[in-house]
Amino acid sequence: MVLGSYKKIVSAKTTNNEIFKYAQDGGIISSLLIYALEERMIDGALVAGNPDNDWVPVPEIATTPDEILAAAGTKYTMCPSINAIKEVVNECNLKNIAAVLTPCQCQVVRKAHKYPMSIGSFVESISLLFGVFCMRTFSHKAISELAEDLGTDLQDVERMNIAHGHFYFNSWDEGLKVPLKDIHGLEQPGCDVCKDYSSLFADLAIGTAGSPPSYSTVVIRTQKGLELFDSAVEVGLLEYDSIEDVTPGLSLLEIRGETKEHQANREINKRKEEGMFVPIRF
Ligand SMILES: Cc1cc2nc3c(=O)[nH]c(=O)nc-3n(C[C@H](O)[C@H](O)[C@H](O)COP(=O)(O)OP(=O)(O)OC[C@H]3O[C@@H](n4cnc5c(N)ncnc54)[C@H](O)[C@@H]3O)c2cc1C
Ligand code: SF4
Repeated sequence: MVLGSYKKIVSAKTTNNEIFKYAQDGGIISSLLIYALEERMIDGALVAGNPDNDWVPVPEIATTPDEILAAAGTKYTMCPSINAIKEVVNECNLKNIAAVLTPCQCQVVRKAHKYPMSIGSFVESISLLFGVFCMRTFSHKAISELAEDLGTDLQDVERMNIAHGHFYFNSWDEGLKVPLKDIHGLEQPGCDVCKDYSSLFADLAIGTAGSPPSYSTVVIRTQKGLELFDSAVEVGLLEYDSIEDVTPGLSLLEIRGETKEHQANREINKRKEEGMFVPIRF
């Protein structure tokens, strides 16, 4: 239940070394965006760029493979993509856009598809949703102070990653790191009441959890997502195993989802007891 509805779940990796070099994990998101663009399934992609190399994510519409690759990699700060939809869609005048979003942002787009108001007509241009797995995000201030405490400058950081209970700067499993328990409290407060770990409303949800290093777990949720994924496999762009055949596998994904739900319920109950506002659906 915690994983929502899906067609299949796999552990996958790109076969394109150039994409892999720039990507966060298995290079699934960048590979599928580039493939969809080249096959004219989409005419642009809303991604989170890092134009000033300072790790402030900026919503950008990528219309070339190079622009998609330039925006690859995870920024652990909210990218204001929803705010930007109207502006970027207006500017680019594109009608068939894929978007890479956090689970909360995927919910916004799906709701706006159903109840078009204000940004609704612009949201209609978003035709394919890539959701990332997401436990928490941090403010940019918190991340830059963290880097400073570790004696580095964000301008010098090439990569950030969360793995093995640590937040890493620079590399996957070495480099500067800080235990996650030491930075607990620096997360965005809204994340404390969020129950969606695996982008329940995306066409394809992608993350690290469940897969071995250098692979991504892909939860293929819709027919549209399945057709895109299968087609990229058919042309040899992606390779994959069933999630049942890899370690740590599906159980870790379920544990992460359940943990997030449990923590959110606890915080929601606490806020209710304190008389604070909590969204009605809770
Ligand atoms: C904020 C955030 C939190 C995450 N938390 C987890 C987690 O707890 N557990 C887990 O297993 N996986 C998590 N992930 C997913 C993981 O880090 C990778 O994004 C995922 O495995 C895809 O890898 P890839 O190699 O296919 O991505 P790539 O091919 O490198 O593509 C990554 C895409 O994500 C976009 N992007 C980067 N940052 C953001 C952002 N802040 N908002 C929206 N889009 C963005 C990029 O523009 C790019 O298009 C998180 C990702 C993000 C963005
Ligand atoms: S934890 Fe939830 S609210 Fe926070 S960024 Fe991730 S999806 Fe959004």
